[in-house]
Amino acid sequence: MNYIDTKYISLISPRLRNFRKKTDYLWNFSCPYCGDSSKNRSKARGFIYRTKNDLFYKCHNCAMGTTLAKLIEHVDSSLFKEYTMERYKEGLTSNGRGDRTPGAAIKKPDFTFKKPVFNTKPKFGELKSFAELENNHPAMQIFLKRGLPRDAWNDIYYCPNFFEFTNRLVKNKFPSLEGDHPRMVIPFRKDTGEIFAYQGRAFGNEPQKYITIILDKDYPKIFGLDRVDPSKTLYVTEGPIDSLFLNNGIAVAQSDLRVPQFKHKAVLIPDNEPRNKQIVNQIEKFIEDGYSVVIWPQGLEEKDINDMILSGRKVDEIKMLIHSNTHSGLQARTVFNNWKRI
Ligand SMILES: [Zn+2]
Repeated sequence: MNYIDTKYISLISPRLRNFRKKTDYLWNFSCPYCGDSSKNRSKARGFIYRTKNDLFYKCHNCAMGTTLAKLIEHVDSSLFKEYTMERYKEGLTSNGRGDRTPGAAIKKPDFTFKKPVFNTKPKFGELKSFAELENNHPAMQIFLKRGLPRDAWNDIYYCPNFFEFTNRLVKNKFPSLEGDHPRMVIPFRKDTGEIFAYQGRAFGNEPQKYITIILDKDYPKIFGLDRVDPSKTLYVTEGPIDSLFLNNGIAVAQSDLRVPQFKHKAVLIPDNEPRNKQIVNQIEKFIEDGYSVVIWPQGLEEKDINDMILSGRKVDEIKMLIHSNTHSGLQARTVFNNWKRI
């Protein structure tokens, strides 16, 4: 991004309801795509935000996500032409992502990191996402109870026959289709958007609540790498669903939450199970290894983030709990010894 981007944000701002600059690189307003909302005119769930050197737009109501350039085009097409011209003169292409036009202007090394932008909605084979599923579908009723943020619905899928679906991707993964059943499927994507693993979560009391299927063994088993900014603090949970409630959340789908490649950026968030020997032993290892760890306050009943949401806690409250209960080193050891119940 450069001064042209910020100039054009000010130029379109009078046309954006409830426009506010929140920080140097974060602007908030009512989404011009979904109206946000016709019932409550004070709602403002659209954000222009920065990832590396590029500005993007995201609405947390309708899940619209696009580049700054596309947003300007949507709001004012003649202003968009001027924006394109001005960027061209500066040797920047019109896509608003800081790319340089070949041969134009100054050549500087370009280290811009391209975040995948799903111009078309992400897909997983023929599966329907929960954003597409009919409201009266029985799986939708269970899904809605999880209270997941709206922008996550596009990339979580309803899989009617999990065994059969999986066998088509991994030959003979389930030797028998007996007992095949529907699951909620969450894909793990590389930062290019390509799916390298997925987790199937049971809707009912099937024997295995979670089944994780690996498609590419060579890729680190981390959920959310396509959505986070790895230069900032990363919040690491066991369950992908828990991570979706946090900004810059990732999940590892196992109780060992350590992520050596992000060790100094990671805050590990174990489940709140002071009586679970396996979890307690893991936390001890995290602390010994020098990680920052969240040790949930005594008296907190819920066992994970999704439970906290379900019991009515607000996301901001949970984030505050995380910030005020993150420890490392000696302090972590003291707090941990008071917390564990085994
Ligand atoms: Zn919207």
